[in-house]
Amino acid sequence: MVTEALNTVRREIENACARSGRTPSDVCLIAVSKTKPLSMLEEAMAAGQSDFGENKVQELCEKAEALSGRGVTWHLIGHLQKNKVRKAVAVASMIHSVDSIELAAEIQKEAARIGKTQDILLEINVAQEESKFGLSTEQALPAARAIAEMPNVHLCGLMTVAPYTENPEENRQYFSALRELAVDIQAQNIDNIDMSCLSMGMSNDYTIAIEEGATFVRVGSLIFGERNYGTEKGSI
Ligand SMILES: *Cc1c(COP(=O)(O)O)cnc(C)c1O
Repeated sequence: MVTEALNTVRREIENACARSGRTPSDVCLIAVSKTKPLSMLEEAMAAGQSDFGENKVQELCEKAEALSGRGVTWHLIGHLQKNKVRKAVAVASMIHSVDSIELAAEIQKEAARIGKTQDILLEINVAQEESKFGLSTEQALPAARAIAEMPNVHLCGLMTVAPYTENPEENRQYFSALRELAVDIQAQNIDNIDMSCLSMGMSNDYTIAIEEGATFVRVGSLIFGERNYGTEKGSI
């Protein structure tokens, strides 16, 4: 099941790259495994999947420990509270959901403590949805400048969670707006940051995100099946 779904998503990624003149190796598929059992992650690993995304620090740590030494790259994609930064920095290869300078400063502190440089993305609430976390587009450049001063934090680009919609074409505007914002920030030539990563697109709209320049797509339900739990903020 997981293997077949994964192969379908991989084919769709290749097709979207072909349509938009991009190279498939420039798009990293993150299998979003939140709420799913280890057995399903292992099935995906057996099918060659190495990048996994979790939205809760506790679950991320438990799974990372259970699968340690097996070559998994972990992405934290959900809202991060300051009091969980230590645990997140211990295991996450990339933290996609940095939404304040204060949070980045906390990450700096923990990363310095353990001698790591933590890769992060700034989460931008492009569609200005009340229910979503993230900086406004106006806040992005000042945040990037502040983070550039943090030696143990490496800002690699931007992330967004687009609105849920029946018609994913409606999200194209938000994906292209995120790309343009990254281009604008890159043009400032700020030392110690770069804007080469764009984390955008989920099960519903990842092919459109790729056409608009996504370098990370975060796909969960299409690979592992639907999740069933409530819709608290941040737990899509
Ligand atoms: C759950 C989640 C995803 C994956 O959502 P699907 O619709 O299941 O693909 C992607 N990004 C974030 C931030 C999530 O929390």
